[in-house]
Amino acid sequence: MTDPNWTIAVHGGAGRLTRQTLTPEQDAGARAGLTAAIAAGSGILVNGGSALDAVEAAVRVLEDDPHFNAGRGAVLTHAGAIELDAAIMDGATRAAGAVTGVTATRSPVALARAVMADGRHVFLAGVAADVFADDQGLERATPGWFETDERRRQHAELIASGGDGFDVDMKYGTVGAVARDAAGHLAAATSTGGVTGKRWGRIGDSPVIGAGTWADDRSVAVSCTGSGEYFLRVGVGHEIDGRVRLAGATLPAATDAVLAEVEALGGTGGAIVVGREGPAHWAFTTPGMSRGMLSAGGAAVVAIYGDEGG
Ligand code: ASP
Repeated sequence: MTDPNWTIAVHGGAGRLTRQTLTPEQDAGARAGLTAAIAAGSGILVNGGSALDAVEAAVRVLEDDPHFNAGRGAVLTHAGAIELDAAIMDGATRAAGAVTGVTATRSPVALARAVMADGRHVFLAGVAADVFADDQGLERATPGWFETDERRRQHAELIASGGDGFDVDMKYGTVGAVARDAAGHLAAATSTGGVTGKRWGRIGDSPVIGAGTWADDRSVAVSCTGSGEYFLRVGVGHEIDGRVRLAGATLPAATDAVLAEVEALGGTGGAIVVGREGPAHWAFTTPGMSRGMLSAGGAAVVAIYGDEGG
């Protein structure tokens, strides 16, 4: 018999998400993707599966969905390439795996999981990370699989405007999941293409353990989205953990305080957080964040804009 106390939350990126900036197709597509991700993750949790398996499964769904900036549909670098980042962390053991600059592996989060399972290293980069994926027998993908017309259009707009390194439309689109399983274990996973027009091997917060991704059974699991440079400088995941674990803050108080620190430095974004008890929590300082949540015995909530869905 499983403890009914499981919960999962997913995000598909924070940003300037309003009913004016999203087309009906983008709105419906994002909601369908979030719903499918929750179904994939909760299907594992309801059967007594692990939080780790649930967050990986949820993120894989979103990586394959071109509505989000991860895997298929990832943003393009300044040079017009795809460079993918991902991380996963197991709150029970604080084992973690992360990859950056991946170009040829279909599921970066599966690769991060393989790095974690292998256990020799935590963080692999670039071409060599794809070689490790081959060694692990993970599925490859070509640039043609990852690239979409809409991302090429955004890239062209960025180059034409002489812009540099930040999302043209400030819709971040990174994906992530956090979960607590029936055994009370926590896990987090995040996957992203980074920001449009990034250069020089730029790495954001998403694959950095303690920044965009964090899980510790003693306190919280966190997955972030937003202006990665600022999330890195605040160490958002670990900072939320510290406030909960060491200062006894509630999830909402800790998350709000840390996002306020990000804002004070000039950054915006959001986070999904799950603790040892209760439902998952989310917060964001942008007009919207694509997000969804489901707890045992409850109904799934899926929302995008700031004025809906709690
Ligand atoms: N945080 C991500 C990064 O800086 C972007 C995002 O959230 O979409 O790479």
